[in-house]
Amino acid sequence: MPPLGPGSPQGGTDLEKHRDRLMVENERLRQELREWRAQPAGPCPGCEHSQESTRLRDQLSQLQLEVAENRGALSELNLEVQQKTDRLAEVELRLKDCLAEKAQEEERLSRRLRDSHETIASLRAQSPPVKYVIKTVEVESPKTKQALSESQARNQHLQEQVAMQRQVLKEMEQQLQSSHQLTVQLRAQIAMYESELERAHGQMLEEMQSLEEDKNRAIEEAFARAQVEMKAVHENLAGVRTNLLTLQPALRTLTNDYNGLKRQVRGFPLLLQEALRSVKAEIGQAIEEVNTNNQELLRKYRRELQLRKKCHNELVRLKGNIRVIARVRPVTKEDGEGPEATNAVTFDPDDDSIIHLLHKGKPVSFELDKVFSPWASQQDVFQEVQALITSCIDGFNVCIFAYGQTGAGKTYTMEGTPENPGINQRALQLLFSEVQDKASDWEYTITVSAAEIYNEVLRDLLGREPQEKLEIRLCPDGSGQLYVPGLTEFQVQSVDDINKVFEFGHTNRTTEFTNLNEHSSRSHALLIVTVRGVDCSTGLRTTGKLNLVDLAGSERVGKSGAEGSRLREAQHINKSLSALGDVIAALRSRQGHVPFRNSKLTYLLQDSLSGDSKTLMVVQVSPVEKNTSETLYSLKFAERVRSVELGPGSRRTELGSWSSQEHLEWESACQTPQPAARAHSAPSSGTSSRPGSIRRKLQPSA
Ligand code: ADP
Ligand code: MG
Repeated sequence: MPPLGPGSPQGGTDLEKHRDRLMVENERLRQELREWRAQPAGPCPGCEHSQESTRLRDQLSQLQLEVAENRGALSELNLEVQQKTDRLAEVELRLKDCLAEKAQEEERLSRRLRDSHETIASLRAQSPPVKYVIKTVEVESPKTKQALSESQARNQHLQEQVAMQRQVLKEMEQQLQSSHQLTVQLRAQIAMYESELERAHGQMLEEMQSLEEDKNRAIEEAFARAQVEMKAVHENLAGVRTNLLTLQPALRTLTNDYNGLKRQVRGFPLLLQEALRSVKAEIGQAIEEVNTNNQELLRKYRRELQLRKKCHNELVRLKGNIRVIARVRPVTKEDGEGPEATNAVTFDPDDDSIIHLLHKGKPVSFELDKVFSPWASQQDVFQEVQALITSCIDGFNVCIFAYGQTGAGKTYTMEGTPENPGINQRALQLLFSEVQDKASDWEYTITVSAAEIYNEVLRDLLGREPQEKLEIRLCPDGSGQLYVPGLTEFQVQSVDDINKVFEFGHTNRTTEFTNLNEHSSRSHALLIVTVRGVDCSTGLRTTGKLNLVDLAGSERVGKSGAEGSRLREAQHINKSLSALGDVIAALRSRQGHVPFRNSKLTYLLQDSLSGDSKTLMVVQVSPVEKNTSETLYSLKFAERVRSVELGPGSRRTELGSWSSQEHLEWESACQTPQPAARAHSAPSSGTSSRPGSIRRKLQPSA
């Protein structure tokens, strides 16, 4: 601490005393705090008292901070006082110098005054004898006159000297006067300095006084605050102490508990290890059991799967590899009114495979595998074909044909409407869901192609060049498979994909043909779905093909009624539908030669019609009177086709794949020789030549 200036020694000592007192008090409190912290119970975290004491500690550190600040202010004040004292001493020194200078000057001036006075006195003492000499000389002689004049001259000279001396004296007196004035001035200056000094001193004293007061006040305030806070700290400390006293028994019990737990924990790893060992053993055993169970189940599942497939095949076989169903459409507005539009078709309420037709007044009945009345929904029809479609996943080739005269409902059954889709879309939906169900064991890819056969020309409906004629060729790899180079295949994964493909095919057709309705009734539309699967566990590969065919209208065009292109179309349709009937008949009767090559349609579908393939013919029927001739013709065709049996179903796998023309012909040749098939025959002529093609003709009991 810097020394205090004069006039306030008492204040500095008080301040120091205060400070010392505060420091001592601080030290004592710190000590107390340290002791309290060092107590064995330690702080109880989260307890109210520890929070309180933390708060108090914070307050204490704040107070300490304030004291340090005050101390800083005090040292600043002391510095200021020191500076003022130094300035005062300097002023006093300067004053002393001035006084000494003044005394010297006074001394010098008085000395000169004295000298001047002495000179004047000596001069005054010399003058009278001279005057006297002059008078005497004047009186005495010429000689003396000369002497007198000399004396007068000397006198003159002396007088001049006196005048000079007087002048000097006068100057000296003036000098003395100015000296006096200077002295007076200096005295006034000194008095001014002294008064200034006095004032500065008084001011300094005042300042020191006020500073002293401020300091004392600040110290007092800080002290009072510290005291109040210390009191609170003390009180809290006392509270904490009492709390600590009450906490100690609790702590003792807790310690006891803790020790007990510690003992238990020490033994726990052993117990845990024991338990883990036994649990591990149990789990291992359980897993082993589950594994063996799983293996057993898998084995059983595989056996069941085989069995299911066998049963399914058996079922299909029992139903016949070629199944024929009829679907009668409702009477529509387009049928018109009057006797021509009356209904000519009736059903057997007890047998859903019988259909009665009143043709030219004569009732004719047919038995098919199933007959759907006009009230049957798209779903009802689909239910009937569902099994066929799923067999395609197992590697079988499937053909579904819609046959019938134009307007009988072929397109409705195959394609349906957007709100009420037909077999095509439902089949693909079913395939997707079946494939999904099998996804854990099998990996499937589904692709679709769409083609059209018009006037015996095959065209790609999904290609970029729909006009391009496509050819059917034998695979060069020797597998015997047929393929159509350039036929577009789209891989599909969802119903959305399918819709896009259909949309694309439809757009292609619409832009290609001005009268699509007319055109489509004279062409065969094919949707070819290929399902390729790989068994993940065995690597066995299967390929199944689903051919969905909306055939051209089967109505016969009288030679007289058609000419030119219409006649050519009719001839082509007739030829290809006859070829279809012939191929099926040849297969059914196991003839040595199956005339697949007689039409583009049969050639293209060769491997889906022969051997282990499954075929479904949906014969569409118009119910009205005016169409009964065509209806009769269609139903006859249906019965003819239905009675054909294909070979026993066998799975089409890569291992046992056979489907080439050669192979088919070889297989046919191996079978019991049959009479050669008609190379080309019309369905009408074929009907009568087939024994037992109409299994039962029912006459209505009326
Ligand atoms: P096709 O393709 O054989 O020429 P369509 O499928 O075009 O015949 O059917 C001709 C008309 O009859 C269409 O308007 C169609 O909607 C309607 N139609 C066909 N079958 C049914 C049915 N089962 N239910 C309702 N309407 C049908
Ligand atoms: Mg149609």
